[in-house]
Amino acid sequence: MSTFQHIKPAGKAQFKDRYTTKAAELLTPYKEGKKGEAAILGAPLSKPSISHSGASFAPDAIRRCLNSFTTYNIEEETDISSQKIIDFGDIAMHPTSIEECHQRIYQATKEITEAQAAPFTIILGGDHSITTSTVKAIKETRGTVGIIQLDAHHDLRNTEDGGPTNGTPFRRLIEGGHLKGEHLIQIGIRNYSNAKAYHDYAIENGVTVYTMKDVRQRGITELIQSALTHLEDKVDTIYLSVDMDVLDQAYAPGCPAIGPGGMDPDTLTQAVKQTIQHPKVQTMDIVEIDPTLDIRDMTSRIASLLVLNSLIN
Ligand code: CA
Repeated sequence: MSTFQHIKPAGKAQFKDRYTTKAAELLTPYKEGKKGEAAILGAPLSKPSISHSGASFAPDAIRRCLNSFTTYNIEEETDISSQKIIDFGDIAMHPTSIEECHQRIYQATKEITEAQAAPFTIILGGDHSITTSTVKAIKETRGTVGIIQLDAHHDLRNTEDGGPTNGTPFRRLIEGGHLKGEHLIQIGIRNYSNAKAYHDYAIENGVTVYTMKDVRQRGITELIQSALTHLEDKVDTIYLSVDMDVLDQAYAPGCPAIGPGGMDPDTLTQAVKQTIQHPKVQTMDIVEIDPTLDIRDMTSRIASLLVLNSLIN
């Protein structure tokens, strides 16, 4: 207790409304045996990014933006103030070895999955290179993995030109034998954002590709339903990978690879909500936010809202 009447610890001197719970209050540090409705783990790695990226700052920014939201959902008339998000903290990265960073992400994901602290886990990137490591770990703990990838890009680049960058995660999974091409569904792929060789690679390997034109013409609900129906009998677990650059640049200024012609946040939210209602969907990642490029945390706020939506089932 402070001996001064109006002085609080640094950073804690905020207004507190007695009837309002901030979403950030749901964050509960992990302790052995503690259970929650969801769990988060930060994977603050952006050194393997092809372009300059401060995505390593995103786990902090997404947690901080939970302070921008309350726990009351007026549309559903639900209040999630009694739920817990178990926070495993962040993975300490090696300062120079990308390979060692990826190994640590693999090891950490395996350990937190085995800890079974929550039925649903969200890994906060980081850039998209983390997904090879997290999916490898999920495969070892939960069995055959199917992936629904929301992204402007295929992320199937060759590794000869740049090694394990954020443009290669799904190719590395396929070529490493961790993922069958037919178990990968890509949604939101955009015009003039990929090379033809990588679309060809996707089709040759049995990957399902839905472009933004498919999203506009068929609607996200139909595409997600089709993806879940395609995967549910073939795999043991479904992993949702959300690259925030699937959003249009108008909504996601914090992504290193912004561009026009992308999704709006309501469509992304609908996609995530619908996907995670499926009982086989147990893990999600949110990647490619660089808070140093963001404007008023616009992109991180959307990510925080996706975290909150994972609690309403
Ligand atoms: Ca990507």
